[in-house]
Amino acid sequence: MKYKIDSEKCRKCKMCLRSRCKAIISADKMYIDFNKCNGCGICSNICPMNAIMKVEEK
Ligand code: SF4
Repeated sequence: MKYKIDSEKCRKCKMCLRSRCKAIISADKMYIDFNKCNGCGICSNICPMNAIMKVEEK
C-alpha cells in the first residue's frame, strides 16, 4: 500500500512535511513520489484535511 495526496483537498499547509518523509514533494502542488513512499502512513495521520489517501500498488 502506498499513499497519494488529493490536490482537491490539499490546502498546502505543509503539515505533512513535518513527518520528514523524503517522498513528500512540495512544488506547485504537494505530491508524494510513488517510488519513494514506503506506505508507513504517518503523513496521512498528520494531514488535517484528510487529503492523503491510500492507493493500491500495481
Ligand atoms: S498536510 Fe494535507 S493539506 Fe497540508 S500540505 Fe500536506 S497534504 Fe496538503
